[in-house]
Amino acid sequence: MADPKKRFEIIIRKLRNHGHKITPQRMAIASVLAKSEDHPSVETIFDHLKNDFPTMSLATVYRNILLIKSIGEVLELGFPDGSNRYDGNKPHHHPHVICVKCRKIVDPDLTSMDVMAKEVARETKFKILNHRLDFFGICSDCMTEEA
Ligand code: ZN
Ligand code: MN
Repeated sequence: MADPKKRFEIIIRKLRNHGHKITPQRMAIASVLAKSEDHPSVETIFDHLKNDFPTMSLATVYRNILLIKSIGEVLELGFPDGSNRYDGNKPHHHPHVICVKCRKIVDPDLTSMDVMAKEVARETKFKILNHRLDFFGICSDCMTEEA
C-alpha cells in the first residue's frame, strides 16, 4: 500500500496545479481516496463523510471523484451493473481480485504483470498503454461462511 499521507498530498497538489479550488469537502474526499485499501464505491465514501458534512450530497462526492479521476489520481473499476469502485491509493492500472459473493476487492501483490505486458507487446507488436485484469472468486471469509 502506498503511504496514504503522500498520496493525499499528491492529489491535493495536482488539483491545485490544475487550478481547482481546495474546499474542505474536496479535501475530505481526497483523504478517503488516498487511504482507501478496500476500493470503496461512491456510496461508501458518502456514508463515511455525511456526518462530518451534513450538507454534502451524493452528487457532490461523485463529481469530486470524477474530477480526481480526470487528473489521473484515482483508478475507476467499472462494472457492467454500474457498481463502480475506486482506488485512490494506487491510481495506476493493476490487477484486482474480486469476491463474487461479498464484492470485496483486494490488490494481489504480483510481480508478473510487467513481464506479461512486455510479452503481450512483443507478441502483438502493440504499444501497450495500460491493462485491466480482474480475477473473480470467493474470498476466504465467504468460504468459511459456506462451510
Ligand atoms: Zn467474500
Ligand atoms: Mn486496487
